[in-house]
Amino acid sequence: PTRQAEDDAALLARRDASFASVQGHYYDQPPRIERGWRHHLASDQGRAYLDIVNNVSAIGHAHPAVERAVARQLRRLNTNSRFHYGAVVEFTERLTALLPEPLDTVFLVNSGSEAVDLGIRLAIGATGQEDVVALREAYHGWTYASDAVSTSLQDNPNALETRPRWVHTVDSPNSYRGRHRGADAVRYAPEAVAAIDELAAAGRAPGAFLGETWYGNAGGVALPDGYLEQVYAAVRRHGGLAVADEVQVGYGRLGHWFWGFEQQGVVPDIVCVAKAMGNGHPLGAVITSREVAERYRDQGYFFSSTGGSPVSCVVGSTVLDVLRDEDLQGNAVRVGARLKAGLEALGDRHPLVGAVHGSGLYLGLELVRDRTTLEPATEETAALCDRMLDLGVVVQPTGDHLNVLKIKPPLCIDAEAVDFFTAMLDRALGELGW
Ligand code: PMP
Repeated sequence: PTRQAEDDAALLARRDASFASVQGHYYDQPPRIERGWRHHLASDQGRAYLDIVNNVSAIGHAHPAVERAVARQLRRLNTNSRFHYGAVVEFTERLTALLPEPLDTVFLVNSGSEAVDLGIRLAIGATGQEDVVALREAYHGWTYASDAVSTSLQDNPNALETRPRWVHTVDSPNSYRGRHRGADAVRYAPEAVAAIDELAAAGRAPGAFLGETWYGNAGGVALPDGYLEQVYAAVRRHGGLAVADEVQVGYGRLGHWFWGFEQQGVVPDIVCVAKAMGNGHPLGAVITSREVAERYRDQGYFFSSTGGSPVSCVVGSTVLDVLRDEDLQGNAVRVGARLKAGLEALGDRHPLVGAVHGSGLYLGLELVRDRTTLEPATEETAALCDRMLDLGVVVQPTGDHLNVLKIKPPLCIDAEAVDFFTAMLDRALGELGW
């Protein structure tokens, strides 16, 4: 090994010594990444990688517009949102302009976990109903309430057994590998409605139904048509609210829709957003109606020292400028379609390819050992990710069986880069004999 490789290994050992084991890192032997540019990452050893995982860096790594805006604002003012300044008003107005009526009231926070946590607290506070129904195989965050509703087995193998009593889960409405497949997936919604009705009959009417509006953690599987319409109606019939986690799937990544809930033809009562909105800067938001926010007024408190700071708001507005000026949602439509077609074509040559899920630049390549039994190709997926790293691509698995490649690159990715990704996948699958 070179001197540099030895230094990098020593740095990794120091990291492992001061982090808890739950705080894992990508790859057993990860490259040391010290730079990013657009949809590329670079190691300190001078190796460039195509970045297929960074949905947070939605407008690309090291965007000069963000760098300039942050530097300028840091020189001027950075303080909390109890002060009166323009940046916070500009950003919250731009956010609400992206949402339908009656979603006009904004809480600015620092992360997706905080957004989901506050979303749950708003729902419980506004309804006085303490139970929450959430989708299984989901990840919503690490804070107390957002972790409580997270049942992704990939993150915690005991997730289902360790939920607090106020959390109730319904089947993941996965039309590919769930209990109901293909056209039968329409059966998930009536089952979830029955579960909500049963809770209400038992005197525990839920204050919220919480779910991603497109099934991100399971690998980008679309919810069955009409799913949210039926489930939202049921929870509202019993006095509860519909809470949408748009942290991962929202903000233009799906291409045809800015928000995942648009695809389902519904309007939630509370929308939780983060990740892309700050392009890596800590920024999240909860947007709800004035009525829900007012009902929370004497049920709980909200103030965040750094949520909605001038710097965060300037980042938020700059990200929106770039999304618009560079037509990145349009890019997600165009480049996403090219990528999806390329991935689907891999299925003709490689039996391991089970399905290509998703929309725009939120895709999932599901790998199975058998296209009938759908036996998950978990070990193969891990080996494929390792080989892809050798070939210059950073890509990672998701889903409870860790057999879906999560494909959610910066939205500025171009045709050349997605063609490279597909070609390297083709090569790696071929070499591995799959
Ligand atoms: N919700 C979803 C759907 C997520 O994917 C994540 C992060 N992976 C979160 C919430 C939590 O966001 P954060 O990591 O910013 O706290």
